[in-house]
Amino acid sequence: DAPAAGKVSTRYDLEKETELRFEVEAGEAAEQLELELLTGMAEVFGSELNRNKKYTFGPGSKIAVFTWQGCSVNLYGKPEVAYVSKDTPMLLYLNTHAALEQMRKQAERDNERGPRVMVVGPTDVGKSTVCRLLLSYAVRVGRRPTLVELDVGQSGVSVPGTVSALCIERPADVEEGFSVQAPLVYHFGSTTPGTNIKLYNKLTSCLAEVFSQRCEVNRKASVGGCIINTCGWVKGSGYQALVHCASAFQVDVVLVLDHERLYNELKRDLPHFVRVVLLPKSGGVVERSKECRRETRDEKIHVRIYKIGAPSIPDSCLPLGMSQDDTQLKLVPVTPGRDLTYHVLSVSSAEDGEEGARKGIVESPVCGFIVVTYVDTQAQVMKVLSPAPRPLPRHTLLIMDIRFMDMK
Ligand code: ATP
Repeated sequence: DAPAAGKVSTRYDLEKETELRFEVEAGEAAEQLELELLTGMAEVFGSELNRNKKYTFGPGSKIAVFTWQGCSVNLYGKPEVAYVSKDTPMLLYLNTHAALEQMRKQAERDNERGPRVMVVGPTDVGKSTVCRLLLSYAVRVGRRPTLVELDVGQSGVSVPGTVSALCIERPADVEEGFSVQAPLVYHFGSTTPGTNIKLYNKLTSCLAEVFSQRCEVNRKASVGGCIINTCGWVKGSGYQALVHCASAFQVDVVLVLDHERLYNELKRDLPHFVRVVLLPKSGGVVERSKECRRETRDEKIHVRIYKIGAPSIPDSCLPLGMSQDDTQLKLVPVTPGRDLTYHVLSVSSAEDGEEGARKGIVESPVCGFIVVTYVDTQAQVMKVLSPAPRPLPRHTLLIMDIRFMDMK
């Protein structure tokens, strides 16, 4: 594909073991950035970049392009910030992966289970990023680890207010993160564990139980182990929830990011065979404001509704060069109104995203259906019947002509 028209392009030559950090401006109107690897090898949070392919990053993205051997990349567009850093903890993270891989090898030899790892630390130390990195490295060497997402504020797997588990079968997509197919999701209902700590601990135990059952019947899952991402609340009941999680999952390793007191407390309170390791945070991790966290959450819940096919118009009225077929495959955004009531909507499995992603919607299979039972346009609320056993896996809905009314 040709370089994005009209965008400034900046070339960065990176020495080995350095990273290019950049941020894309936030906000609806902000311009997307494109990244292209020109020479050498590089990765974004553990996922390798293909050469001469343009990766697009939307508003608000905060990205690090790391290279082990050196590389050159092009950025198209104007980033909010962009700089190269030599000071990264990547080597320590890679060593952590190597140690976990040793444990998996040993588990394989001795017919034992692989490492169960809990990643803890306050907010904005890069816990999710470290989880992603370790999981991607593990799949890249052929493992099938499980991601356990206990961060109810910023879930990487499902909507906020849920806890979940996901088997990881391939490295995270550079732009979209891990492919979320068939996750196991539990409803918690709020974005802080503190609103109902009992429920939170109960759900942690449920996930641990299901994961252990899976390990009993699936050797690869057992050897792969799990990486547990936790909430940034590390005091009082939040701390107790971490101790509870360690015991429910019988974790072998706890990675504490950038919090010495938490490290000492966990060393003191967890059984001696649990390896508690203190790791530095990356200087690249950007603090996110409350506002920014809310926006990220909203974006995850926000749904888009389309109708496939614009109403047909007589050929004589069509704009020049446009044929009837074009209108039949066109995606027409639907504004929720009363007339949506009782319509069946298909939940598209198309990747969520902006413009670019819309192209795939028509050809994407459906992963579930919902029925709208009530629309309040003023309050912007829509009630739906959703036979799916979990929250919407995707946020693109396609309206059908079919209506459903439960007469029972
Ligand atoms: P929380 O507890 O709030 O969920 P966290 O500790 O899990 O936060 P992350 O979500 O991993 O933190 O990271 C915060 C942000 O920083 C993310 O947008 C991530 O993309 C970005 N980030 C992480 N590491 C780097 C880096 N080395 N350079 C640039 N940006 C980074």
